[in-house]
Formats: sequence, structure tokens, C-alpha cells
Amino acid sequence: MPTPTTPSGNRSRPSGLRRARSTRRAFLGMLARSAAAVGWFGFHVTASARRARPNFIIILADDLGYHDLGCYGSPMKTSRLDRMAAEGMRFTDFYSAAPVCTPARAALLTGCYGQRVGLPKVLFPEDRIGLNPNEITLAELLRGRGYATACIGKWHLGHQPPFLPLRHGFDYFFGVPYSNDMTPFPLMRGDRIIEQPARQETLTERYTTEALAFIARHRDRPFFLYLPHTAPHVPLHVSERFRGASGYGLYGDVVMSLDWSTGEILDQLRTLNLEERTLVVFTSDNGPAIFKGREGGSAYPLRGGKPLVWEGGMRVPCLMRWPGRIPAGRTCTELAVMFDLYPTVARLAGARVPADRVIDGKNIWPLMAGRRGARTPHRAFFYFRGERLEAVRAGRWKLHLEQKLIENGKLIDWLPPRLYDLEADVGETRNVAPDHPDVVRRLERLAARMKEDIRRHGRPPGRF
Ligand code: MG
Repeated sequence: MPTPTTPSGNRSRPSGLRRARSTRRAFLGMLARSAAAVGWFGFHVTASARRARPNFIIILADDLGYHDLGCYGSPMKTSRLDRMAAEGMRFTDFYSAAPVCTPARAALLTGCYGQRVGLPKVLFPEDRIGLNPNEITLAELLRGRGYATACIGKWHLGHQPPFLPLRHGFDYFFGVPYSNDMTPFPLMRGDRIIEQPARQETLTERYTTEALAFIARHRDRPFFLYLPHTAPHVPLHVSERFRGASGYGLYGDVVMSLDWSTGEILDQLRTLNLEERTLVVFTSDNGPAIFKGREGGSAYPLRGGKPLVWEGGMRVPCLMRWPGRIPAGRTCTELAVMFDLYPTVARLAGARVPADRVIDGKNIWPLMAGRRGARTPHRAFFYFRGERLEAVRAGRWKLHLEQKLIENGKLIDWLPPRLYDLEADVGETRNVAPDHPDVVRRLERLAARMKEDIRRHGRPPGRF
């Protein structure tokens, strides 16, 4: 009987020792294979869990106008944001829930009109109210699903201890408690002041550095990065490297720095191979401060700007990018509101939206995913200014409600209801109320119902 030959041709004779070795080797091999199988399986479980829980990055500019990005018609160069639009979706009818900072941010993080959560107006350093600790923020929802959460930038939902980001679901905070035209304007890390006043010209770059580090630190687990920039809110400040670089004045330079910052973040996602599991949203908290002239942005072709309820005050640029999930190069013309991100993001993360309270936001994933025939989930959108409901939009129609100014029981001023057809007249120039009394009545009814709804289901702010 021939002796077995090894692959190299050497004759070998199995001995008892060799048999024992080969048995052990076979056993170890089997162990290794099953370990590999477990590992493989484990990897797939983790990978699909990761897929099921994508990362979220919401970048919020402060007072950036509808016309301030190249992809919205601006002559200013915003090459990174324009590329983001080309790689994702651009929204034409995306609204902030308010024409000023505080209620807009409250809406984004609670899924409700600022009026519903008791924050209808801008907070000032002397104010002693803030986002009620009973509200369940988007950060809290996501943290409950195992997300690492960070707020890097401007908070503006109350600067007393119970209202700061670390008490509202964020693990990490680096930024400022309110607007950059307020004093003493501290820069904080967590609950601690690290600089006062904050050196304004450094903020965009320091926020960016912090954001990149946060992403890198959490590359292996789901994260939520909320990046509300201080810019381009007045007073305008920019670092040396962007000063004079845009060719469109200081405002253009500031926008250019935001464009750079967003590019850094998108590059970071690519470097860390996180692009396909990260939804990135870029938008603005309200319209431009056009009353500041060259220091404010532009909302062309919309009328008005911050802090009014003309389209320019509340319709904002919005880009969303998520390779493989959001189709590239699309434009969505359906109405969507910033507070829709709350239920939409929650759903994508597998988190449950609180059922014990009214939430104004609606799931807009069908719009984001570019589903054929997907329509806005909103029957109507409401334009509040402070506590007052001033306008309502349903479909193509927008009604500015009748305004009566009464002093000492006497009617001082009266503005009749004015109706605009936004499809034919996005600049709100021709009042067509006399031609459509039925539409006026229908929108007035919607407004009355909303006022009553806020009266009955409004919630108080937190008090300190
Ligand atoms: Mg603002």
C-alpha cells in the first residue's frame, strides 16, 4: 500500500502523535470556522443594526436667506452646498416653523410650533424661561435608542441651568447659549463657560473642529449631531482666511465659511466611510435680516424676511443628502416644515414619537425618499409671529389674516384679509381675496381651528 504523499511530494507516515495533532488541528479549524461564522453573523447583525439606525447631522444656519446659496440662484459661490444639493434633494417649499430664532429651534427639537411649547418669542439674556424639561427633544428620543448626541453651536432655548443642552438630551455641548448680538455672549463647553465674550471670528471654525472630532469619536456607533451655526446672524464675523474671499462682501465671506464647514463635514463622512449611513440636512432657522441691508441675506424672489410672515421670513433653503436612500439631484416642491424632521428622524431611528401630547410635525420620509406621487402631509401650514397667528397656507393659497389694532377700545388700524396664490405669485404681490371669498373663508376656518387647538393643547415653557 503506497504511503500517503504530502502536496510537496514528501512521503509521510501518520504516527499516533501526528494523528492526535491532525485531530486537534481539525478541531481547532472547525472552531475557527465556527468562530468565523459567528463573527460573520455577528458582523451582519451589527451591520444591519447600524443600517437600521443611521446617523443624523442637522446643520442649521442662522438667518440664512432663501436666495443665499448658489443652488437657490445666488451669485455667491457655495460650491460644497451646491454639490450637496446635486448629490441629494433640494426643497423649494421648506419652512421654518417661525420667522425668528427661539421658536424655530424649539420646533425643530420638539416637533411642535414654538407657540405650542410656550416659546413663541426670541429669548433674551434677562429672560427666565426656557424649553420645558417636560418636553421630549429629538436628542432625548435618539439617546433612548442608543445614540451619542451633541449640540455644537447656538442653543437659544433658555440659558439657565435647567434649560441647557445637557439637560435636554445632549451628551455634549460646545457653543453659545443665545444670539451673537446679545451680551455677555459666553462660549460654553458642557455647562461651563470657557470664554466670555466668545471670540466671534473663531466660532465657525471651532464648531467645525468640534463637529469633526465628535463624528470621529462616534464612527462606530449611531450618533446625532446638531450643528446650529452662529452665522450669518449679525453682527457678522469671519476668520482671516475667508475675509474678502467671496467677492460678495462680509456677508458673502460668512456664507463661504459655512459652505467650507459643511464641506469639511461631508469629507469627514467620506473618509470614515459613513456616507451611506448618515442623513445630512442643511437648512436655516428663519429668513434673512434684510433690514440690515448689505449685512443681511436675500430671500429673492420671496417677499420680506425675518421677523415677518411673508414667505421670505419663513421659507428657507433646505438640502438633504443620504447616498443610496435619498435620490440624487432631485428637487422637492411639496410643502414641508422643519418640525417634520422630529417624527421623520425618530422613525428612521426606530424611536417612538411621544403619544401623550400633540406633535405638529409629520413624517416626510416619502418625500425625502422621492416616492412617486408623494404629497405633503400637511393640510395647512400656520405662520405665527410671536403669539399671534398671522397667516395660513393650504395648497397654493396663502391667507394673511385680518389684523385689527385696537387701543383703548378704539379701532386704530385695520388690515383686511389678503389672499395670495403662491403658485402664480410667489412674491405675494397681488391680493386676490376679492376673487376667492370661498377660499378666504376656508382658510379663516383653518386658522380659527388652529388658534383653538393651541389654546387647548398648548404647553407652558419651563420657568427658572
Ligand atoms: Mg435666526
